[in-house]
Amino acid sequence: MNLQFKSFFPAQRTLMGPGPSDVNPRILTALSRPTIGHLDPMFVDLMDETKQLLQYAFQTQNELTMPVSAPGSAGMEAVFVNLIESGDKVIVCQNGVFGGRMQQNVLRCGGQAIMVQDDWGTATDINKLEQALKMHPDAKAVAFVHAETSTGVRNDAQALCALAKEYECLTIVDAVTSLGGIELAVDDWQIDAIYSGTQKCLSCVPGLSPVSFSQAAIEIIKHRQSPVQSWFLDMDLVMGYWGQGTKRAYHHTAPVNSIYALHEALLILHEEGLQASWTRHAHMHQLLKTGLEELGLEFVVDEQDRLPQLNMVRIPEGLDDGAIRARLLQDFNLEIGAGLGVLAGKVWRIGLMGYGANQKNVDYCVEALASVLKK
Ligand SMILES: *Cc1c(COP(=O)(O)O)cnc(C)c1O
Repeated sequence: MNLQFKSFFPAQRTLMGPGPSDVNPRILTALSRPTIGHLDPMFVDLMDETKQLLQYAFQTQNELTMPVSAPGSAGMEAVFVNLIESGDKVIVCQNGVFGGRMQQNVLRCGGQAIMVQDDWGTATDINKLEQALKMHPDAKAVAFVHAETSTGVRNDAQALCALAKEYECLTIVDAVTSLGGIELAVDDWQIDAIYSGTQKCLSCVPGLSPVSFSQAAIEIIKHRQSPVQSWFLDMDLVMGYWGQGTKRAYHHTAPVNSIYALHEALLILHEEGLQASWTRHAHMHQLLKTGLEELGLEFVVDEQDRLPQLNMVRIPEGLDDGAIRARLLQDFNLEIGAGLGVLAGKVWRIGLMGYGANQKNVDYCVEALASVLKK
């Protein structure tokens, strides 16, 4: 027997990377409440309320709105495996890492991915999407990332969806980093399928993926040629478990305590109000921007396309990316994000997400960076 094993006590970090973000202590308290059975009537009530709060967060009346019992990537997979079948054409707009994952999902469903590419760090060009829609009138869906966490770019979800609808396409949106941080209106913007995550602007623990499907999307699922290849993510089966009313069929065991946590996170968002949350993110972004620019750090993304919750700045010439982030972590318990893919070593990504989008974090990050950069 190994007597070295002991309980794990993580350091008290300040999380200002691309996620997970700082978790509100209220949520950690909710997480530690007693576990009850997942078919306990009390838990069934909690599931219903969680769905209602998610409808509020997504701004939707969609009946099929619930958290998938796995992280954001599973929500992504749930959307694609349910809606896309062999031979389907999907136009995927890519301007970062996460658009590429959508492409991979389409291909693994046996679909054809028509790529609309834009440079990393710039927004999706709507004219390019229109060209692709004209060239591929048989496309079934348009998919894109609302908040591209790999670059800090906001794609204009409202405009992209409106255009896709003109061409009678389903709209699939990655809202993992956008939900709670910037304006998002699933029904008004005509989004048919959307997935998010708990550990970004909801400031909840990682591990759940809120999703929502429109009536049009449900019709597609009902009329599939082939069964969904994933048993676990088959929305028809999942809905039997998460669906309306008291008759719940066992599908899998919901992560009971994680649902307490998500419920609390959504409650906090509801108490603050969506609009107030979006405004707070924008305000904190302005403060951080001022501080970073005073240190001589430059933003990469054009001002009008910037995400308040994910700030990407260029690493000044001659600085050692890894060494600086290591110093921040060791000396300041501060985590900021590295560049991904083609941007690795060239940028830092500073998150201001959910509970972490506050003045204390902004000041702390600027002070820590100032101190480390001076050395
Ligand atoms: C974080 C993220 C994901 C993946 O979420 P996980 O919870 O890490 O699986 C997907 N898309 C975007 C835009 C993200 O930022």
